[in-house]
Amino acid sequence: MNATSTYRYELTTLDASIDALRSMLPASELLYSVKANPHPEVLRRSVEKGLSIEVSSHGELALAIASGAVPRDIVCTGPGKSDEYLKLACDSGSCVSVESMDEIDRLNALYAATPARLLLRINASRRSSKARLQMTGVASQFGVDEEQAHDAVKTIHHGPHSFVGVHLYMGSNVDEEDALFEQFQIGIELAASFETYATDRFTVDLGGGFGHPFARPGERPMWPGLRERLQEVLGAHENWNVAFESGRYIASACGTLTMHVREVKWSKGIRFAIASSGVNHLGGLAGLRRIPPVRAQAAADAGFDTTETTRLAGPLCTPVDMLNPLFDGACDVGDEIVIPNVGAYGLNASLANFLGHPYPVEQVTDGGEIVSTTRLTTIREEVTP
Ligand SMILES: *Cc1c(COP(=O)(O)O)cnc(C)c1O
Repeated sequence: MNATSTYRYELTTLDASIDALRSMLPASELLYSVKANPHPEVLRRSVEKGLSIEVSSHGELALAIASGAVPRDIVCTGPGKSDEYLKLACDSGSCVSVESMDEIDRLNALYAATPARLLLRINASRRSSKARLQMTGVASQFGVDEEQAHDAVKTIHHGPHSFVGVHLYMGSNVDEEDALFEQFQIGIELAASFETYATDRFTVDLGGGFGHPFARPGERPMWPGLRERLQEVLGAHENWNVAFESGRYIASACGTLTMHVREVKWSKGIRFAIASSGVNHLGGLAGLRRIPPVRAQAAADAGFDTTETTRLAGPLCTPVDMLNPLFDGACDVGDEIVIPNVGAYGLNASLANFLGHPYPVEQVTDGGEIVSTTRLTTIREEVTP
């Protein structure tokens, strides 16, 4: 059984997710977070839809520029930025979200000749009570603690670069309106105390964390009151350039993964189905207990006998490669398993190189028309010691 697994990304679904998110936000800039899905066509379409871009590495920055993003509309984030990354950010005229005092010192010392616009990423002291993955309010490798933030801004002021605003990112995969609103409200209140330092129009990047179902059937969530509630709080700050970021909400729905059952076997009374994809193609982060086991689209609809439970495993030589220990459907050899909502944190968040299986095919469609069909490979290059 050599059937290949295939990721499909439908660009009109990407459009619909972008439009849905925009409809729930007040007038603002929206950034696409490349780490959710760096496929060049996804990135290009996001740029065409007028999104700005958030990158977290040198590689993502190079890719964003190559995909047509205007450097002025790119924000470079990430802890422990390499010199190479900072250099490309400054040379290209991208905005840098600085995450530490050390980073400010390096920017001042190394890249004074190419002054950059800097956002200061702040680890807010007040924590949102509701966000699931806490990235703020507690000890963190991200950003500068709120207590140090005023000193950090003064250090920026004494150097060649300009301080344009603040950046907050408080959590991920938040699916309740109250929780989203609460974290943005905390961010807005905190940002206000930094406005006087801004040399240009004050930018307040409030982050995001907009939740979306992952690897299971489910509609994109809607938060009908969010826009109005945010408009009210932002009413006093009409001159701000407010920004939001999203990877998951924007890209999740556009992607599905189709894999095949290669083999079915029994062990001590338990039925195992071995699929053509495992944590090398999907849900690598699930192995790190960050995301729930993947769920295939209602197997019963496809006529499977749901009274029988199968353990759905991937083809990797590790017990970690369990896509679903309670797969509700007796799938047989050759059956297709379609996993929806994997356009974000799918292939690129997986353990693709582990065990040397081929990458899945990635096919991009636009209204059903095929735009590209490709497969990634890994190349080993010579490095001068
Ligand atoms: C990961 C990340 C994002 C994107 O998060 P999603 O949950 O995919 O929307 C945005 N901003 C920063 C700083 C991040 O680290």
